[in-house]
Amino acid sequence: MENNNNNNSGKKPGKTNIPKFNLNWMYMIIAVMLVGLLLTNEGSSSNKEVSYDEFQGFVQKGYVSKVTGYDDSSVEASIKPQHVKEVFKEEVSKVGKNPLVLTEAPSRESLANFLEKERQEGHFDGNVKYDKKKELFMLIFWQSLPFLLIIGLWIFFFRRMSAGGGAGGGVFNVGKSRAQLFEKGGTSIKITFKDVAGLAEAKQEVEEIVEFLKEPHKYTDLGGKIPKGALLVGPPGTGKTLLAKAVAGEANVPFFSLAGSDFVEMFVGVGASRVRDLFKQAKEKAPCIVFIDEIDAVGRARGKNPSMGGNDERENTLNQLLTEMDGFGSNSGVIILAATNRVDVLDKALLRAGRFDRQIHVDLPDLNERKEVFGVHLRPIKIDDSVDVDLLARQTPGFSGADIANVCNEAALIAARHGKKFVGKQDFLDAVDRIIGGLEKKTKITTEAERRAIAAHEAGHAGLSWLLEHANPLIKVTIVPRGRALGAAWYLPEERQITTREQMLDEMCATLGGRAAEDLFLGRISTGAMNDLERVTKQAFGMTAYLGMSEKLPNLCYYNNDEYSFNKPYSEKTAELIDEEVNRIVNEQYARAKDILLKHKEQHNTLTELLIEKEVIFAEDVEKIFGKRPWASRSEEIMENEKQQKEAEAKAAAIKAEEN
Ligand code: ADP
Repeated sequence: MENNNNNNSGKKPGKTNIPKFNLNWMYMIIAVMLVGLLLTNEGSSSNKEVSYDEFQGFVQKGYVSKVTGYDDSSVEASIKPQHVKEVFKEEVSKVGKNPLVLTEAPSRESLANFLEKERQEGHFDGNVKYDKKKELFMLIFWQSLPFLLIIGLWIFFFRRMSAGGGAGGGVFNVGKSRAQLFEKGGTSIKITFKDVAGLAEAKQEVEEIVEFLKEPHKYTDLGGKIPKGALLVGPPGTGKTLLAKAVAGEANVPFFSLAGSDFVEMFVGVGASRVRDLFKQAKEKAPCIVFIDEIDAVGRARGKNPSMGGNDERENTLNQLLTEMDGFGSNSGVIILAATNRVDVLDKALLRAGRFDRQIHVDLPDLNERKEVFGVHLRPIKIDDSVDVDLLARQTPGFSGADIANVCNEAALIAARHGKKFVGKQDFLDAVDRIIGGLEKKTKITTEAERRAIAAHEAGHAGLSWLLEHANPLIKVTIVPRGRALGAAWYLPEERQITTREQMLDEMCATLGGRAAEDLFLGRISTGAMNDLERVTKQAFGMTAYLGMSEKLPNLCYYNNDEYSFNKPYSEKTAELIDEEVNRIVNEQYARAKDILLKHKEQHNTLTELLIEKEVIFAEDVEKIFGKRPWASRSEEIMENEKQQKEAEAKAAAIKAEEN
């Protein structure tokens, strides 16, 4: 590595700085040619210099139509079109419309006398004009003004257009890559694998890349080829960029970072040119890493959408990218890392071995990983003893690394707002609530009747999720409006890898509990359930059309990830069946929800009253009303298992110690 750098810097002073040929030169040459044309081809007519005698001859023969005499005694004479041939010895078409004869008179007076004499003798009947000689510079200026204006305007608009994209800008830089470069000395990367929590498998995969960048010979000596690229696949905020930066930081090499959309510009051909420029720069800095975020912006499958022709530019860009990735030898030391969360829309050619050899999946963190992520982000925050990382990790299922970073920051801000010296547990819980549900809006005006309706609705959700075995366990219920929601019941989603039909049905039933409770206990239904209904309908559709879980269409999956297909992969008849099944599933669950709620009418009413009184209630309150749940939730099971395992390990260790 070090050697390499030295070599590079050693070469530079020796290089003479010959400007390279590029587009700028073309523009220059065109401009110079334009000006040249202007000067050589004045008025697009030819002129001829003659002696004063010859000029007098032309006047006497009656060829001259107009004469201009200048103050420096030079003379310009226009020739009548019918005599052009005799004077210029060429066709009119060659010499132009208004050819001039130029000469020098002895003085203005003699010219005036001569012309006066010829006029009287009937040889000359044209115009005579006396003028000041225009300066050459002014002449050029006035003649080229329109061209200068046009060129100026053109440059101005180019600048405006290309400056819109951010960095670089300028008419000459549209084709330049927009990659940001981080390297030693300047803006170097200080992120290492220590800053990336969890993601053990992904880290292991990329560690090999780091190994290679540090010691390429270890691999090449054995005849091994180095991976050209790796694709990081996963939902947003899970640390893909972070991982790529950590690779660069660990390997201590330059890091080019850009987004897929940086290639795209309104000019045709710019994308491809930017790809070329990026690879050229990268090769100069090799070994290095190029990171392309959101590669789906350029890497979408080609030619899938013939009806919309506007994709040509993107296709060109993609083709160029494919070519470049093939073009550099795998030992050149440029490694491409790319990130996307839509691997299904990427062009197959991009995914084949030899381009992105590896796909590294970066998933949402699970319980233990979240603990680690909290560990990383709590480092800079001053916390007190009440903060329990285990609890925080349990309270944040489905959060990405970025969400967790946000929670930590938000908690610190909340604590600061309250003038605290340290950030406490409650600040973190408030931050989680805020990130899930948006800001509390205590000032939103709700009438007593509305509050009652919201409470009954939320109590319906809460009661059902308590009473159904597979529904997500409840954390808390609130009727304080937050964000756009009027009330909310918060659950702890179980982090399952697979979901059974029973689980899905129980979840749907609990989701319908709100509408069912309104219907049963208030006697009228409201718009408040729209969100629930939407979710349930989608879920029922998914169960029927994609998961093969319905009775009439078992074991069939009509999933189709082709974005632009307007045809359904099933017949009209099947479409009707799907509708029927969706309808049936939702209705069944709705009836079930009503049934269960009716059986627990008393408890529901108590819960509603409690909600109206307290506004926020927790799982403990619900437990007091409905009794303990007979089923352990999955997370409880997992924790119980972990505990047992730890105890067993401790026992084994103790026995071993005794033996020793
Ligand atoms: P992505 O590129 O996957 O959308 P980023 O890598 O940009 O996500 O992550 C955004 C931020 O989230 C990071 O800067 C970091 O603060 C935080 N983050 C995400 N994942 C992790 C992780 N595994 N460990 C620590 N921090 C993380």
